[in-house]
Amino acid sequence: MRIFIPPAWRTRVDRYRLKATRCKDCGRTGYPPSEVCRFCGSKNIETVELIDETAKLITWTIIYSAMDGFEERRPVVIGILETQEHKARIMAPLTDVLPEELQPGMEMEPVLRRISEEGESGLINYGIAYRPVLKKVE
Ligand SMILES: [Zn+2]
Repeated sequence: MRIFIPPAWRTRVDRYRLKATRCKDCGRTGYPPSEVCRFCGSKNIETVELIDETAKLITWTIIYSAMDGFEERRPVVIGILETQEHKARIMAPLTDVLPEELQPGMEMEPVLRRISEEGESGLINYGIAYRPVLKKVE
């Protein structure tokens, strides 16, 4: 019997930790990780994790037409964020926020969310989404 493991399962741990690569030559961090620095071409790189960093919202887009498996999450809001420490740019869905509440520069944090469900197979895909950092009540 051949056991088929979808690629999403094999790479899920890396995706859930938000692994990225930081270049030891130019100092910039790229996400997703790559074997060569996408900014200067150096191979002198190290792996870093971005999961514990908050990020600043740079811009976003709102998708009203649902893709298969995303119907219940309409509209889908996709943001571009920059992490606070490594200054890595990440494109990710935004969650727990209404589109009209979004502000450039707002501080957001990564959370694990159900992203989609694959029809009759019932396979549920999880992924990282960003939500606003909840302000502590003084
Ligand atoms: Zn570099």
